[in-house]
Amino acid sequence: MELDKALDLIADVPDFPEPGVLFRDLSPLFADAAGFKAVTDGLAATVDPDADLLAGVEARGFLLAAAVGYARGLGVALIRKPGKLPRVAGRVGYTLEYGTATVELPEGVVRPGQRVAVLDDVLATGGTVAATCKLLEDAKVQVTGVSVVMELGALGGRSVLEGRRVEALRVC
Ligand code: 5GP
Repeated sequence: MELDKALDLIADVPDFPEPGVLFRDLSPLFADAAGFKAVTDGLAATVDPDADLLAGVEARGFLLAAAVGYARGLGVALIRKPGKLPRVAGRVGYTLEYGTATVELPEGVVRPGQRVAVLDDVLATGGTVAATCKLLEDAKVQVTGVSVVMELGALGGRSVLEGRRVEALRVC
């Protein structure tokens, strides 16, 4: 399937999770074999050839990072929400489009000096990815770039990530 057709499978859901928010629902895309493959291949092509590891942001970033990791022969660091990890190596709090949040890095998944590419489904305000990059850099890891399926351009996430390589398969 062509990448553009695959991205058309993303559904726009008004007023979720709060009134006034237009939520981009990737569920139909994930459920479509050809669409999921097209997006996996598209993201895989954006990952720096020198990357040692991928970092996927819970939860949809896990799916994408797992698929891209398999395609590129790379492992995945799972960047988690609080309360899930038995051993926490680092923690960064941030503000979200709707509320506040924290990301955590598991113990024993990154080594100083490693080159890590960050993957997530949607870049909105950029808070989640910026916090993820800080989390990794606090662990002395080099972030090679950020790849997302969809960037919500009006929310300005790219400006929060100034100076970083940011690749989006679609900008809305
Ligand atoms: P940000 O921190 O950039 O404001 O928000 C991005 C994070 O929130 C991502 O982890 C993403 O999964 C989630 N998110 C925010 N808005 C949307 C949306 O419209 N659709 C989806 N699927 N996720 C969103």
